[in-house]
Amino acid sequence: MSAESLVAEARSQVDDVDLGPVHAWKRANPGGLAVGTMPIYVPRPLIEAVGALPVAIFGGGDQVDIIRGDSYFQSYICHIPRSTLELALGGRLDCLDAMIFPSICDVIRNLGGMWRLLFPEKLSVYLDLPQTFDLAVGGRFFAHELHRIASLLEAAGARPLNDEALVAAIRVENVRRAALERVDALRRAEPWRAPASEVYLLARLGGLLPAAEHTRWLEDYLTAAQGRAARPVDNVRVVLVGAFCEQPPLGLLRTLEKAGCDIIEDDLQLGLRTIEGPIDLREGEDPVFSLARSWIERGGATASRYIGDDEKGRALVERVRTLGADGVVFAAASFCDPALLDQPMQEAALARAKIPYTTLKFAENTGQFQVVREQAGAFSDAVKLWGIA
Ligand code: SF4
Repeated sequence: MSAESLVAEARSQVDDVDLGPVHAWKRANPGGLAVGTMPIYVPRPLIEAVGALPVAIFGGGDQVDIIRGDSYFQSYICHIPRSTLELALGGRLDCLDAMIFPSICDVIRNLGGMWRLLFPEKLSVYLDLPQTFDLAVGGRFFAHELHRIASLLEAAGARPLNDEALVAAIRVENVRRAALERVDALRRAEPWRAPASEVYLLARLGGLLPAAEHTRWLEDYLTAAQGRAARPVDNVRVVLVGAFCEQPPLGLLRTLEKAGCDIIEDDLQLGLRTIEGPIDLREGEDPVFSLARSWIERGGATASRYIGDDEKGRALVERVRTLGADGVVFAAASFCDPALLDQPMQEAALARAKIPYTTLKFAENTGQFQVVREQAGAFSDAVKLWGIA
């Protein structure tokens, strides 16, 4: 299949707010639970190990009109909780047997609370991610949380968790992560063959599929993209930062590309990339603790992770330099506290390092991109001509 056909099929599945791929999985796996997970990070292998399908929920994007969802929230917060509730109240998430709300921000915490009230018949779990990175404290706590979630899923009808199944699921997840890294490497080296707007769709599809199936998609895309006829374009190389939860419309990514920006790295779909490198399994260690330890030891610097002793923005500066990027585009969802509270410190670090950046905001249903095109076009021209923004 051509890269274009794979991307088109991935888009149709990602855009399907009725969760067609999840219904298909449930038909093929009678009795299996579908477990919705809100951004950013929920350990997917744990869910697969109990015979369930983890389903990443990113709201309604630009596919749904918000009518009832708005009535549950004040106006000055982001969009994703409204559209997620809109989908749920309209019955479009009925195929989900449970929901997990990881601790990102107050908005997700409140959404989890509302879920319990609105859908008391469904399992609803709040996942506290540790903000203490001492293994004996945060690691132990996180492993305890994961055991608790596995027990709750078992009570809801999933298989009991056992070490063998979890080790197998982690190994399959590591194969997927290696495939995703190969796609990312192609995007970094030859973005004209694997543009970010395509890689985004292929990565996001993984939130709806078992890891093994997603790996096949990634490998097929990699083969097709490597072999496609494409010529290098004189674009600037940018890192996109801030869109790790509510996702921008695809049109925004395409607009940035058309305006001369090759997005060689981003934090879209951060959940699949939160742990840097493979999940580290160790002989004789409880594999649940291996999951927790990998997050503690290898979790990337994100806005939802407490950074106490280090300087905010240092990791971003290092990443820009390692990748040979020309600059940074900050793109946060409007009213996203974690992204927007981090941004000034990251901007200051970039300014000290003399790395150009530009800043924009979006909502998942933003429909007009002319301003973005002009701003990104001016940014890429200035960086190309003078090396500054
Ligand atoms: S977009 Fe930002 S503020 Fe909104 S739920 Fe996500 S992390 Fe929280």
